[in-house]
Amino acid sequence: MATIIDGKKTSQDIKNEIATRVAEIKTEGGKIPHLAAILVGNDGASQTYVGAKVKACHEIGFESTLVRLDETISEEELLAKVEEINANPDIDGLIVQLPLPKHISVEKVTDKIKPEKDVDGFTPSNVGRMALNWPAYVAATPYGIVELLKRYNIETSGKHCVVIGRSHIVGSPMSILMARNGYPGNATVTLTHSRTQNLKEIAQTADILIVALGKPEFVTADMVKPGAVVIDVGIHRVEDASKKSGFRLIGDVKFDEVAEKASAITPVPGGVGPMTIASLLYNTLLAAEKKVYG
Ligand code: NAP
Repeated sequence: MATIIDGKKTSQDIKNEIATRVAEIKTEGGKIPHLAAILVGNDGASQTYVGAKVKACHEIGFESTLVRLDETISEEELLAKVEEINANPDIDGLIVQLPLPKHISVEKVTDKIKPEKDVDGFTPSNVGRMALNWPAYVAATPYGIVELLKRYNIETSGKHCVVIGRSHIVGSPMSILMARNGYPGNATVTLTHSRTQNLKEIAQTADILIVALGKPEFVTADMVKPGAVVIDVGIHRVEDASKKSGFRLIGDVKFDEVAEKASAITPVPGGVGPMTIASLLYNTLLAAEKKVYG
């Protein structure tokens, strides 16, 4: 049975470390980190995600501002709001919760965020800096995975890492991070997607398999090399009458059978998911302490 890579515990460890630093900053009379989140519209999932981020800020002693905007807001008005927060010296980090309504360009809004406040790591500037192995805000989910690999001392140098999925927020940055000269990194990386041929054969050669394609239980034991490290990014709700909530969460990996074969694996829930908020908080701390852009 594989080692279970416990994202819930690790994320709590990180939050405790950040809370300790915030307490020190308070004692030193320094600036308390302040995160602003813009939420456009009433999408239920987005409200839940933003709510969890604001709650986490309070738990660790950060200040937070939630800006709620009507879904009919124009692109121009939203861009003006971003500009206003960019110019507010009290706010260290800014996130704009996605998705945005169809009439608003995600690219334009992302590009408007000041890179120094882009704690989601989505702006072209931060993506470019990450690719160059410069100090950068790394997107929360890939950063969370890197932190899990680090804290579980997983060897990556010289290993074959196969990433399934090439999204801008998970797969692509993950492939860059694993190929960088550093730790975690120095892996030989294969980035796969929906046009990849012989995916099963490629996956079978992975020492580290990072799965982010958004298909429930897609990766089965026959796709996994014995002893591989498996990171499951997917999250899906499936109906389950035995649960009080009426549903349970599963990932992109068939956990039970893959756990029998892997050397280490992230569960769903409790693996990559909880790391995402911890990473965002960490980036906000870096922003407040001017540790990326100086
Ligand atoms: P996405 O934007 O939908 O991208 C999916 C990627 O998977 C695409 O690159 C797609 O290829 C590829 N793909 C689809 N079907 C495939 C197949 N049969 N074989 C190989 N590749 C295939 O997904 P995402 O935003 O990265 O999210 C992936 C999953 O992670 C989702 O379940 C999402 O809910 C979850 N997620 C979790 C967290 C977290 O905090 N834990 C954060 C973000 C996302 P093409 O490019 O060719 O279309």
